Amino acid sequence: MRAIRVHEFGDPDVLRLEELPEPRPVDDELLVRVQAAGVNPVDTYVRAGAYGKLPALPYTPGADAAGVLQDSGARVYLSGSLSGAYAEYALCRPDQVHALPDNLSFAQGAALGVPYVTAYRALFQRAKALTGETMLVHGASGGVGLATVQFALAAGLTVVGTAGSDAGREQIAAQGAADVFDHRDPLHLRAAFDTTGGRGFDLIVELLASVNLGDDLTALARHGRVVVVGSRGAVEIDPRDLMNSDGAVLGMLLPNATADDIAEAHAAIGTGLRDGALRPVVSRELPLAEAARAHRHIMERPALGKIVLVP
Ligand code: NAP
Repeated sequence: MRAIRVHEFGDPDVLRLEELPEPRPVDDELLVRVQAAGVNPVDTYVRAGAYGKLPALPYTPGADAAGVLQDSGARVYLSGSLSGAYAEYALCRPDQVHALPDNLSFAQGAALGVPYVTAYRALFQRAKALTGETMLVHGASGGVGLATVQFALAAGLTVVGTAGSDAGREQIAAQGAADVFDHRDPLHLRAAFDTTGGRGFDLIVELLASVNLGDDLTALARHGRVVVVGSRGAVEIDPRDLMNSDGAVLGMLLPNATADDIAEAHAAIGTGLRDGALRPVVSRELPLAEAARAHRHIMERPALGKIVLVP
């Protein structure tokens, strides 16, 4: 089979298309014929060797994919695998494989795993989001941001979102956000705050805390919470801003979730896919051989949902 392999950590050009033997399932393992693989920012950190836990070299990147079970032909999406998702076949444990409804494309299925489990965990397991609350998704145009917007709207929150491009803002508005702002505008947070009538946000899901956390703390309602999902460096905060709202900053990192947490998130994803509340947005499909290009795009271009690789 064809698969992307990484033999040394480094820039995107270390992603090479190679021919490998087809993996063989043993015991209860499942073999999935991959039709689309999702590209996540974490794939680029691992490839660069800049992540806490690194795989042994060589390895096949990717956690998310969708395809068909080799045995039964059932449509599935993967949330993790034993052999890597950027490949024609992936070997999985049963708990890594979930049903993909017929009304979703394989590319949409490849957009589910990391982004939707992250969004669910940030909103409900960490921030304990409640119906009727007002939330800012600070960076709502990417894979995690759009998933967060969809989960929050389905749960009856009022959602305000930000993006850095016109297309991103249009997409967030089309999802049903009440207001949308440009996070490149230095005054955007004041304008977003004003939409709450001066009350502030009950909840902020933060996708770039290294830029925004200090300001977020000034935009919280009483007992407001910021969930830090993404950050690319250090940031200065004034603790008094947190005291003023009796606020809280909550971190979250997907590998800290328990097996029960993950199972709960996939159950919620299944419900949302079936009732139509969750509709993954795919911005771009690239051939598997162009994995390096996909890694450059996800780090350099404005986000608009998910980039997927097609074997
Ligand atoms: P993505 O699809 O590349 O989206 C990145 C998002 O960040 C876009 O919405 C982008 O908006 C936004 N952004 C850029 N500049 C920003 C700014 N100044 N303020 C606020 N947002 C800004 O990536 P993703 O998959 O959604 O992941 C987003 C982040 O979460 C990444 O850092 C990723 O590593 C992290 N993450 C963490 C976990 C975890 O377990 N904690 C899990 C998954 C992802 P524009 O492109 O429109 O400017």
